[in-house]
Amino acid sequence: MAITKVKNIPVLGFAAYSGTGKTTLLEALLPLLTDTGLRIGVLKHAHHNFDVDKPGKDSYRLRKAGASQMLISSRYRHALMTETPDEEANFEYLINRFDHQLLDLILVEGCKNIAFPKIELNRQQVGKPWLYPSDDNIIAVASDSELELQIPTLEINDLDAICQFIQQYVVQQQSTIVNSSPAVCCDTLSPAFLSVEQGQQKILRSVDALTSSEEITLDNAYGRVLAKSIHSPINVPAYTNSAMDGYALRSDDLDHDDFKLVGSVMAGYSYQGELGAGETVQIMTGAPIPLGADTVIMREQSTVKGDTVSFSAKASKGQNVRQAGEDLEVGQTVFEQGCLVEAPELGMIASLGFGSVNVRRKLKVAVFSTGDEVQAPGSELKANSIFDSNRFTIKAILQKLDCEIIDLGILEDDEMVMEKAIEQASHAADLIITSGGVSVGDADFIKNVLERSGNVNFWRINMRPGRPLAFGSINNKPFFGLPGNPVAVMVSFINFVEPAIRKMQGVTDFMPFKATAIASENLRSRQGRTEFSRGVYSMNNNTGQLEVRLTGKQGSGILRSMSEANCLIEISPNIDTVKQGEYVTIIPLQGRI
Ligand code: AMP
Ligand code: MG
Repeated sequence: MAITKVKNIPVLGFAAYSGTGKTTLLEALLPLLTDTGLRIGVLKHAHHNFDVDKPGKDSYRLRKAGASQMLISSRYRHALMTETPDEEANFEYLINRFDHQLLDLILVEGCKNIAFPKIELNRQQVGKPWLYPSDDNIIAVASDSELELQIPTLEINDLDAICQFIQQYVVQQQSTIVNSSPAVCCDTLSPAFLSVEQGQQKILRSVDALTSSEEITLDNAYGRVLAKSIHSPINVPAYTNSAMDGYALRSDDLDHDDFKLVGSVMAGYSYQGELGAGETVQIMTGAPIPLGADTVIMREQSTVKGDTVSFSAKASKGQNVRQAGEDLEVGQTVFEQGCLVEAPELGMIASLGFGSVNVRRKLKVAVFSTGDEVQAPGSELKANSIFDSNRFTIKAILQKLDCEIIDLGILEDDEMVMEKAIEQASHAADLIITSGGVSVGDADFIKNVLERSGNVNFWRINMRPGRPLAFGSINNKPFFGLPGNPVAVMVSFINFVEPAIRKMQGVTDFMPFKATAIASENLRSRQGRTEFSRGVYSMNNNTGQLEVRLTGKQGSGILRSMSEANCLIEISPNIDTVKQGEYVTIIPLQGRI
């Protein structure tokens, strides 16, 4: 069967025998799909003759009177009915009746015998044979049977999974559509929307931690990631010692009134011999507990008369004594691999006596800017140009993330030059980042080059700022095409690039840290997309709670707003307004940008 060619828009069918519940499933799926921002058309094929309008209605009467096409229109909808007395209209013709500018996807119910991609629906109780694998248009199966197939299998009652599959299908189809059409300039041809989480998941699923590691001295280890877990070679504390300045004695003697002072022991020394009954030794914090002793009473509770010591407070057995191995026993894991080495970790590793550590190799990241209008700072600004700021923000964040940076500058607007540079970058670097030129409609050269590579997808993320994002791979190296707007660059970086870098570095905890704060003003957003505003959070001294307000101007080109901010305010897609006094999520920026 020849594959029916449908240009410009993804088409997906549901194939099943009647009684499987195609319409019921579609009816339940549509709200989930439209919630993700997809605009959907449905083509339903009926085997029987049908009428859309009822006998007696004007349109019915005019149709029956001889109108071979009848278009009825009102404020809320219009419908075109076309009489086809001789032959049923073909599938491609019907698909092209839809206004493709207004849709992201056409779902088809029926049309089982026409060749186009379909999900097969099957319920055991219906007792019908499978269309798959004899129908090779089936790209996935949704059923209530346990299956092991070559194609994706979905649980027929798991609407979320089916919805997610369809979204992925749309994204995939749209990128092939975009890739295969030479002059793309309209938004409807761009991939469908992905939520921030979906984008993150897709990215994180496709990047892996580097495997190579190196041994480096402690002096160079700050900011690196442990490649091997660290086990304690010693007991910590190494020996049982006093937690206080005071007097060491035997707990057997706690009922004595007076003790005989037999010596004193300083930190770094030890008491020679064993403590006898009724004896005590003056002891300093950190000094080893004398043999026989097991309890320390603090100096402030003691009275010394000559060589006799008495105590004002009751003591309990073992008090003020730190046992050997109490913090760490020999062989115990101190830090797991994947742990980021910062000040406390460095101190701890040093305290165990290690002079060097095994860490992951540094991640090499290639960065470049593109765009005819983009010009290097430090030169006289030409007409219609802007200075390249993105490369500098990106490099600075990469520096914080302890990456090795390969700065490829601003690539000349020449496809050959770009192709060569990207190719070289993919050999030299572990990851490639660029900014600008990835929106649908951008006629930038970079886009043509990436489209040719075939492995980079152009996404629209349901977020603001930072809606366009290109992600994929060039010679198996992850590639990020960030938006051009400077604030969008940073917001996209924090949400998508940073977790990917952290995962590639082998860090186990790679998602952005979030907190909640009380909004000190009303915050507006739009339902259906994640809104990232620049905010300033601080602790309210009276309540001890975090509060957050907006910085001034919020435009996505305004880097000042980023500079004034100490957090991003994240408003999730299901919320349109956060009222003053309500809680909102924040992503603190300290240590990050
Ligand atoms: P684009 O995504 O290429 O349409 O770019 C969106 C906006 O970001 C445009 O105003 C660009 O001029 C600007 N832009 C692109 N690249 C850079 C850059 N490297 N530095 C600063 N602004 C940029
Ligand atoms: Mg551009």
